[in-house]
Amino acid sequence: MTKSVIVLGSTGSIGTQTLEVCAALGIRVAAISGYRNTKLLSEQAARFSPEIATTEPLEALKCDADVVVNAIVGRAGLAATLETVGRGQRLALANKESLVCAGERVMALARDTGAEIIPVDSEHSAIFQCLRGADGNRVKRIILTASGGPFFGRTRGEMRGVTVAEALAHPNWRMGAKVTVDSATMMNKGLEMIEAMRLFGLPPERIRILVHRQSVVHSAVEFEDGAVIAQLGTPDMRLPIQYALTYPERRESPAAALELAEIGSLTFEEPDFEAFPCLRLAYEAVAGGDAACGALCDANERAVARFLAGEIGFDGIYESVSAELEKI
Ligand code: MG
Repeated sequence: MTKSVIVLGSTGSIGTQTLEVCAALGIRVAAISGYRNTKLLSEQAARFSPEIATTEPLEALKCDADVVVNAIVGRAGLAATLETVGRGQRLALANKESLVCAGERVMALARDTGAEIIPVDSEHSAIFQCLRGADGNRVKRIILTASGGPFFGRTRGEMRGVTVAEALAHPNWRMGAKVTVDSATMMNKGLEMIEAMRLFGLPPERIRILVHRQSVVHSAVEFEDGAVIAQLGTPDMRLPIQYALTYPERRESPAAALELAEIGSLTFEEPDFEAFPCLRLAYEAVAGGDAACGALCDANERAVARFLAGEIGFDGIYESVSAELEKI
């Protein structure tokens, strides 16, 4: 099991939960980096006594540790991913943008250096877990589940006037603002489809997105013989974070136990590409490789920041990302 970690993006949602997990498991925090919330960064430094506490991720990477947790939000996380993978170090990756913007490059580098990339994104952690023991058997499809976000069931027109507060009210998951808005537009699932392509080496037509409102089945893998192996659990990010740190072992976790009888039924539906056109943009970007996927990722990051700042409406996110993709 991991003895020491570097946590990049320690003041964000994944970062703070990673530190909770480290405290519970007795894992030493060797270095932390945070960006906006320097007050929290100082508090974390006082509590965890890392050798380095910095606002500069690459500075934190100068420390020695078993695992680097990259929980930086957005493209800003890519440099740290490349540095970690380039050194052949184990990377617990929560920064999906690294694989969306430069997945071809990151995975090629990992093959060269032998760096292990353990996904922290709940869906990808699920797929990673389902693939354990697959022993080289052919994967027919990945079933990538989506909660559908707060606006599932509405038409595009009905979503035009939604507020920032409404977009930030996710029904199941406790996450940062950027990914919560991405979840409301379902761009998050588009980015995750690209992330899954890169991590597991499958073309988009073999990744099937299904809306699963309960967020209990975190994703599944269908094998050649038709057997489908799924990973289930309560929607608590501490589970995939912990697994990335204890892998290949498992440890007790503070997350609530999954009580299937209390949940009663699990439902699955097709995603609505008309109501959530950002999903379609992700499939369009894939044809253009890292360059187009990077453009999608960057345009979305800017659009979400503008939406959060009240400068554009909810539908403006799709409008502006679509216009920017059109240009390339
Ligand atoms: Mg996810």
